[in-house]
Amino acid sequence: MKINQGKVMTVLGAIEPKQVGNTSTHDHIIIDFNAILTEPIDSKDISKMDEKISIDNLGWVRFNWASSKDNLVYQDVKDACNELDHYRNSGGNTIVDVTNIGLGRDPKKLKEISSKTGVNIVMGSGFYVELAQTLNYTSEGIESLFESIMKDITIGAGDSNVKSGIIGEIGCSWPWTKNEKISMEASVLAHKTTGLPLLIHPGRNQYAPLEIIEFISKLGADLDNVVMGHIDRTIFDYSILKETAETGVYINLDLWGHDSPYYPLAPETYMPGDHERINMIEFLIKNNFEDKILLAQDICTKHRLKKYGGHGFDHILKRIVPWMKIRGIENEIIKKMMITNPTNMLTIK
Ligand SMILES: [Zn+2]
Repeated sequence: MKINQGKVMTVLGAIEPKQVGNTSTHDHIIIDFNAILTEPIDSKDISKMDEKISIDNLGWVRFNWASSKDNLVYQDVKDACNELDHYRNSGGNTIVDVTNIGLGRDPKKLKEISSKTGVNIVMGSGFYVELAQTLNYTSEGIESLFESIMKDITIGAGDSNVKSGIIGEIGCSWPWTKNEKISMEASVLAHKTTGLPLLIHPGRNQYAPLEIIEFISKLGADLDNVVMGHIDRTIFDYSILKETAETGVYINLDLWGHDSPYYPLAPETYMPGDHERINMIEFLIKNNFEDKILLAQDICTKHRLKKYGGHGFDHILKRIVPWMKIRGIENEIIKKMMITNPTNMLTIK
């Protein structure tokens, strides 16, 4: 059931591809991320988990960002509008909000925020990691998960008429769970049926993206229309990066601005810095993958919002684009990563 082919579906309805403009391809305008709540690195700090964020504990929160309950939720429409006003005033046009089931998606709020700020919002669909779910994938079954995604795309999510324009972020843990494979199978089916892009949250292992690509490829996914997310925190070995890019998927470097190297969700690895993301881009350009690079910030905690001393949704536009120019990345390629590639990805096939 293909509808709106050649258009881009936003929370305010279908738009023309030329209206997409500068885009962040993986962010969260409102979210409840408490599913990933983790103990702080120093167990004596357990009581800090219940503290509200303040200037007195902000340094602690920035390091232990997954341990502050207050940090993991933001759902205020007025605050979100203020954050997006900065984004729009910095030249931002579109945000892909891949908050889906398990992350506190709120279609009506997204619609209100988009109409108040003039920023296009493309809303996600499908299911985040199993850990974040209250429903049981196995008892639900592929068919029912598929129908739920189809409803988001064709009728509207929840009790709204707000339609999803992308399937994602589809959660995969490492090791990849049986139930998450069921969710992925339903997502691939919906992606094939509707022509919508499929955006994936891979497990934290360098080989996770390739394992997922092999699985979805066998199911008939259109790899040209698949976004592999979080590549920057997942792949450290450039030969694996090259192998992943050669499959034809979009490579999403989507954690720009995440500048605490300690990574509580995978402390045996680390969160790379923006300088390493630029190195990765230079490698991808050198290997002719410039048409498959996407950029985003994956803001999912308060401390990365401007209101709480963070970089905000305009971090790439205000700081990374100028930095890439200084590093010698051509304007034409920057335009591809900011506008052309996201537009191609979001256009319904
Ligand atoms: Zn995300």
